Amino acid sequence: MLTNHASQASKSKAILTLLQGCNSLRKLSKIHAYVITNGLHHHPDISGKLLNFCAVSVSGSLPYAQLLFHHHIQNPETQHWNSMIRGFSQSPSPLQAISYYNLMLSYSSPDTFSFSFVLKACERANVEPKCREVHGTVFRCGYQNDVVVCTNLMKSYAVNGSVDHARRVFDEMSERDLVSWNSMISCYSQAGLHHEALNVYSLMRRENVGLDGFTLVGLLSACAHLGALNTGVAMHELAREKGFMGSVYVGNALIDMYAKCGDLDGALCVFERMRKRDAFTWNSMIVGYGVHGRGNEAIYFFEKMMMAGVQPNSITFLGLLCGCSHQGLVEKGVDYFHMMSSRFNIKPGIKHYGCLVDLFGRAGKLEKALHVIRTSRAQDDPVLWRTLLSSCKIHMNVDIGEVALKNLIRLGSSNAGDYVLLATIYFKAKDADGVSRMRKLIKNQGVRTTPGWSWIEVGDQIHKFVVDDKSHPDTEEIYTKLEVVVQQAALNGYVQEESLIRASDFTSIDTECSGTSGSCHSEKLAIAFGLARTPEGTCLRIVKNLRVCRDCHSFTKFVSLAFNREIIVRDRVRFHHFKGGLCSCKDYW
Ligand code: ZN
Ligand code: ZN
Repeated sequence: MLTNHASQASKSKAILTLLQGCNSLRKLSKIHAYVITNGLHHHPDISGKLLNFCAVSVSGSLPYAQLLFHHHIQNPETQHWNSMIRGFSQSPSPLQAISYYNLMLSYSSPDTFSFSFVLKACERANVEPKCREVHGTVFRCGYQNDVVVCTNLMKSYAVNGSVDHARRVFDEMSERDLVSWNSMISCYSQAGLHHEALNVYSLMRRENVGLDGFTLVGLLSACAHLGALNTGVAMHELAREKGFMGSVYVGNALIDMYAKCGDLDGALCVFERMRKRDAFTWNSMIVGYGVHGRGNEAIYFFEKMMMAGVQPNSITFLGLLCGCSHQGLVEKGVDYFHMMSSRFNIKPGIKHYGCLVDLFGRAGKLEKALHVIRTSRAQDDPVLWRTLLSSCKIHMNVDIGEVALKNLIRLGSSNAGDYVLLATIYFKAKDADGVSRMRKLIKNQGVRTTPGWSWIEVGDQIHKFVVDDKSHPDTEEIYTKLEVVVQQAALNGYVQEESLIRASDFTSIDTECSGTSGSCHSEKLAIAFGLARTPEGTCLRIVKNLRVCRDCHSFTKFVSLAFNREIIVRDRVRFHHFKGGLCSCKDYW
């Protein structure tokens, strides 16, 4: 008996060793054959290990795992069920994991792992009701204080769009570890609730919870989205203090934060001190300079990246093309576009074609832009036609503008914003018929309104304004200041631009704040507030959810001159650096 046991133990060990080197279904079936010929297929330890290996480790072997599970394991125990649930939770069919979990409940009791794996499946299959059901079972089985289960429950709720439920689970946890705090931050970030993500950190500080690299990366990403530079800088200090600057992830997150907050010098500073850099690091610099319209610097970093022997990817080229397009480097842009596939074997995606259309369009080469779309095999992508239409507006080209709109209509995706673009072109071409046709289309279609807002960070607080906002506690002061600012801007040459489309036509469209005359756009309020609350010479940084309208653009230029302030506006599409009465976009946006 003893020798039998010993020989089984040594065979079991041999099988484990074999499994470790196994990376294909072919090898796996050989091992399985060995197990069967040695009469070990009913041995619980061995069959369990084999099953787990099939289900989880070798890709494509889930059917094999099912075979083992249903025919070779007589009374599956929790660990066997877990292997199946886990295997399917990572597979293209996560719903199968949920089926195994349901079945399991009739035969065996779930444990921490079962819950975690099935929640992962709920997360991937996007089934919120199931998530709630699992939550109930977690309670009934007494796992409501299990920090791992609760953290997975939070994630699953958040991914399924119930971030409030996630927060409730978090609040009710009797004990939290750093992973659960970090998860709460990332739940909010993924839901686009970046303010709330930063608020979690305030709570962490109050409760004296430490932090790690993941916390920093999560918070820095929230700062990047919000354009909250001051808070980001405080995070940078913290990273230095706590010794996280050696982490390439933290470094990358810092670069991204500085770039998205419009502080490229800050990004460069972090970049230069990094001892280790990966493709993300380089991409962050290239994309950073690219979206700021500084193509030459983007190219410089690309060349350095090549010298460092780092392989570029499709994001690298997006950054490069964007930079070339905004700086008018047409030939270079075309070269890079071709280089992508010819030298690096990267197939250009829709976004790359979009950049190329924009590159030609901005430079006034509208025929070429049209040709790119027609030969791109992406003729049915509305984004490309819309990009072309915007370029036609810049260069006032009626013919190609009409072609672009016709295609948008053909694709069934034309919207009020497109009609406004073409109406503007007609207006400048003094084509009254065209303008009135567009007005009719706008009226008929109705307008999807996106409320415009802007925010500005003053100190460590973010202040958000909407159009004609009267909700700020210091509203009166802000409007009084705005009057003074408008006067000063006017003395320097600012003239309010009349809007082409009357306020009665529509209130707001999603491509541009519509400039209804008389109303006060959110960024004007943010600028007035910023001027009132920051010391002279301080740069103002504003984030806006829509594109800047012509009037606000001109206003901001004259304010930068009149008050001798640098003003950086990040709108939905790009950055505008206003300084001394000029904007970095050279009035093309
Ligand atoms: Zn505006
Ligand atoms: Zn601009």
